[in-house]
Order: sequence, then C-alpha cells, then structure tokens
Amino acid sequence: METLSGQQGLVSPATADVIGHELRTPLSYILGYAKLLEENGLGPLTPEQKIAISSILKGTYNLLSVTEQLTALLMIQTHTSAFQPIDLSEIVAQIGLLAGMRAEQTGLHLSVDLADNAPPITADPYLLRQMVQALLDNALKFTMPGGRINVRVFEDDASVCLTVEDTGIGIRRNEFDRIFELFYQVDNSISRRFGGMGLGLTVIKAVVDQHGGTIQVTSHPNSGSRFLVKLPKSN
Ligand code: ADP
Repeated sequence: METLSGQQGLVSPATADVIGHELRTPLSYILGYAKLLEENGLGPLTPEQKIAISSILKGTYNLLSVTEQLTALLMIQTHTSAFQPIDLSEIVAQIGLLAGMRAEQTGLHLSVDLADNAPPITADPYLLRQMVQALLDNALKFTMPGGRINVRVFEDDASVCLTVEDTGIGIRRNEFDRIFELFYQVDNSISRRFGGMGLGLTVIKAVVDQHGGTIQVTSHPNSGSRFLVKLPKSN
C-alpha cells in the first residue's frame, strides 16, 4: 500500500511550480495544435485523421489532468505560504461552469447550488481548485449518460461545506477507506473503462487535511456516490 508520508515535501514550492510549468507547457502546445487540426484550421481532415486527432486530444487532456494532480501532490507539504481568504462558492462556480459543458456533451445533467454569502475559508487557491476539479472529474467519469450530478456549497456552524453527489456506478462500503490511497482504483471492469491513475482522491484527501478539514463518502453500488467536504471557516 502506498500512502502520502507525513514528512516535509520532496521539493520546495518554487521547484514544484517549475516542474508543473515544464510539464504543462509542452502539453499546452500539443493541445493547441490538436484543437486547430480538429477544427480544420490546417485544412480539411479525412475521417481517419479525425479519429486520430480525437485520440490525441483525449490523451492530452488526461495527461494535463495527471500533471495538475502530481503538481498538487508535490506542493501540498510545503505550500502554506499561498494561504489566503477564499470564497469557495466562487471557485465552485468557475469549475462548475466548465464541468457543466462537459456534462452536456456526455448526456449528463449537472446542477450547482451555491449558498449566498458563505463566509471565506483560509486556503491555497491552486490546491482548492485541484480538489474541486478532481471531485467533479470523478463524478463526470463514473456517471452514465442520462445521470445527474449535483454540487452544493453551504455552511454549518464551524465549516463551509461542499457536496458532490452523483447517480453513477457507486462504491462498495468495503472500499471507502482504500479509495483515498495513492494509485488505488476499485478493481472492477466498469470503473476501469474510465481510465485515470488513482491520484484524484489522494489529492483531494491531502488538500482537505492540509486545510484542517474532513471528507466523508456515502455511496451504494449502482445508485451513486456523495462526497462531503467540510473546511473550517476563517477566524
Ligand atoms: P481515478 O479516478 O484516477 O481512478 P481516484 O483516486 O480519484 O482515481 O479514485 C479512486 C477510485 O475510487 C476510482 O478509480 C473509482 O474506482 C473510485 N471512485 C472515485 N470517485 C468515484 C465516484 N464518484 N463514483 C464511483 N467510483 C468512484
């Protein structure tokens, strides 16, 4: 079993930034040119070329996602200097907008309910974005066309809370702890159709821990999953 150790980060935040940048930059070029080709920007494509470009685009999006998750993992141990007051609803609104477009393309319905005037939390905006993104990526990945995803931000006494709820394939109770382990993926043929590396929930849990919060999962096979994150309100 691989877990994140409690020790200080392997690299400084500045080095983590550089590593992220070095990986992201070439991928952005590949993505840019692949999109240009897809839109016939360099001339009309044959059907075979369209299939090839679509595979390149899919692979590049996956690599970009893994790059952000690895960068987040590198940063988590040392990156407290970027902590600042943040409105979680604002981050969820931005990421939810893009996720909503992706949901529509795959026949899913995504709704976002944001509390008015939820108090700020003290957080690292980059890491918080990665956490929200990874929760939504999983909901989109493990929910079949026709399914629903609901994202909510609200407050309770001490925390600002985020729930991401889907009507997807669900998770068996005996997997609830293991899914947060580094590289762990539930071993069944349905979830493996969706790719991924087993990094997302490790990032999510590490970000939540770093911010003094908690995460809970409730799920039933074939009826969906609900992830509840609670982050302490700023003092
Ligand atoms: P990845 O999504 O890259 O496989 P994660 O660490 O994010 O890795 O998740 C680990 C595993 O937990 C996934 O492979 C999947 O089996 C399960 N899982 C996570 N989120 C969901 C969800 N919303 N619905 C069903 N299964 C999930």
